[in-house]
Amino acid sequence: MNAIRVHEFGAPEVMRLEKVPEPRPGAGQVLVRVKAAGVNPVDTYIRSGMYPRKPALPYTPGADGAGTIESVGEGVKRVAVGDRVYTAGSITGSYAEHTLCHESQVHPLPNPISFTQGAAVNVPYATAYRALYQISHALPGEWVLVHGASGGVGVAALQLARAAGMTIIGTAGTEKGRKLVAAQGAHHVVDHHAPDYLERVLDLTGKRGVDVILEMLANVNLGKELSVLAQRGRVVVIGSRGTVEIDPRDTMMRDASILGMSLFNVPDRERASIHAALVAGLENGTLRPVVGQEIPLADAPRAHHAVMEPGAYGKIVLIP
Ligand code: NAP
Repeated sequence: MNAIRVHEFGAPEVMRLEKVPEPRPGAGQVLVRVKAAGVNPVDTYIRSGMYPRKPALPYTPGADGAGTIESVGEGVKRVAVGDRVYTAGSITGSYAEHTLCHESQVHPLPNPISFTQGAAVNVPYATAYRALYQISHALPGEWVLVHGASGGVGVAALQLARAAGMTIIGTAGTEKGRKLVAAQGAHHVVDHHAPDYLERVLDLTGKRGVDVILEMLANVNLGKELSVLAQRGRVVVIGSRGTVEIDPRDTMMRDASILGMSLFNVPDRERASIHAALVAGLENGTLRPVVGQEIPLADAPRAHHAVMEPGAYGKIVLIP
């Protein structure tokens, strides 16, 4: 089968399409025929060699994908050959024509959701769900600022928060992105490059501030956004690409909390709960992943350049 292989850490161009033997599922494992693979920023950090978690070389990138079950190993009960699934983790990597998964890493993909949309589910929606419900404990009626709402995690957060009855302010850096943010559920949309946009956020809440901030670029925003938090406000640090200085007094004045999260830390039971909620949302129509770009698997380097560029618009997926 064809798979992207990385033999050394480095620039996107270290990813090459190669022929590798098709994996065979052992006990408790399934083989998925991949119809689309999701590209996440973390895939680029790992490929660069700068991320604390490093796979043994050579490896095939990717945890997210969607397709059909091709074969199952001994003892597999939750899925059968032919089932449509999305993957939430993979043993052999999802940037390939087939990917080997533990049975627990595949989840049903309800029929109206396409395979490309299915590839956009795992990391973005699980992150948004965990940030909203398991980390910040956001409640219906609260104000949520999705700080970076035009990308994979942001769109997922908009759909989840809107379905739950929160009031949402979403940000994006381009006109196209802001249109997407409005269409995906934000009640108010601001430009995170405008000099006065945080004042606008405060004004929108009648100067009260927001209850929850989902932060996609904390090294740029954390120092200034604490001042738009309401009393007992919570910031969830989802993304950060550097260091930042804050004034701790901004948290003291509001009894505010800064909460970090990493999807790698989610315990199994909480992960199962997240995916039960996501499958329900995909079934009942509240969750509809937005795919902005489909790129052939062989062009994976282009996808890694694109996911790190400004002007996000939903998800980038690879098509084997
Ligand atoms: P993405 O699809 O590339 O989207 C990036 C988002 O960040 C876009 O909405 C982009 O908006 C926005 N952004 C750019 N500059 C910004 C600024 N100055 N202020 C606020 N937002 C800004 O990436 P993603 O998949 O949504 O992931 C977002 C971040 O979360 C990444 O850093 C990723 O590594 C991280 N992440 C962390 C976890 C975790 O477990 N902690 C899990 C998933 C993702 P424009 O392009 O419109 O400017």
